[in-house]
Amino acid sequence: MGQRNRKHIRKNGSHLHFLTGILFMLMVSAGSFWWGVLGNFAKEDKNRAMEEVHTGTKQETEEYYDGREGADTLEQWNLILVNHENPIPDNYSVNLVEVEGGERVDERIYEPLMEMLEDARGVNWGALPVVVSGYRTQEKQQSLYDDKIAKYKKDGYSDSEALEMARQWVAQPGYSEHQLGFAVDINGAAYDVYLWLQENSYKYGFIFRYPGNKTDITKVAEEVWHYRYVGVNAAKEMYERGICLEEYLGEES
Ligand SMILES: [Zn+2]
Repeated sequence: MGQRNRKHIRKNGSHLHFLTGILFMLMVSAGSFWWGVLGNFAKEDKNRAMEEVHTGTKQETEEYYDGREGADTLEQWNLILVNHENPIPDNYSVNLVEVEGGERVDERIYEPLMEMLEDARGVNWGALPVVVSGYRTQEKQQSLYDDKIAKYKKDGYSDSEALEMARQWVAQPGYSEHQLGFAVDINGAAYDVYLWLQENSYKYGFIFRYPGNKTDITKVAEEVWHYRYVGVNAAKEMYERGICLEEYLGEES
């Protein structure tokens, strides 16, 4: 092969490289175009999915609240019924705040609770009544429940007797108002505190939740120390009509 021919081949080769280069660039830009389009679809899908999840939760909440009649919309959260046949709502979440003594409650009841306890000092030898049990986790409720059953068994009761007796004092895990964060057990230094609370708690939005004359409805023995927040309007009406939360909500059975 002569000098001339070799030169010619080289020339053709670089021409070929140039064409391949252009083709390659076209492929890359087309690729990134489709990549972008697909990416946008994926993003839209994700947004749509998130919206659906969000709407789903909202609808569920509204449906849940729609079942409760005769209540001010703004106070609906206060009226969630948790008792022997109504467990805490699914995926229930709560913002907690610590009260004096270390127990925690829903932040929305903190102010009325502290106001009530401060006002009760006068009938408690000047001391602030103590919240001995506020919010409870599922685990906490479970351990209280198990301990109570064990105690009755130790006292000689049969398994079924122990279970029945324990349930009058400690709700089954998942069925305690304490798991909502709106209920408190109050320890007074003087018994007068409990009498004062029965006559005055409604002014702060709290109810004497388990009075002795409603045990057939609440299925809970009288607990003078247990108070539940329901909001001032509902508490006042329950106090004046002498009805419990189940009766107020038309859910007594
Ligand atoms: Zn309690």
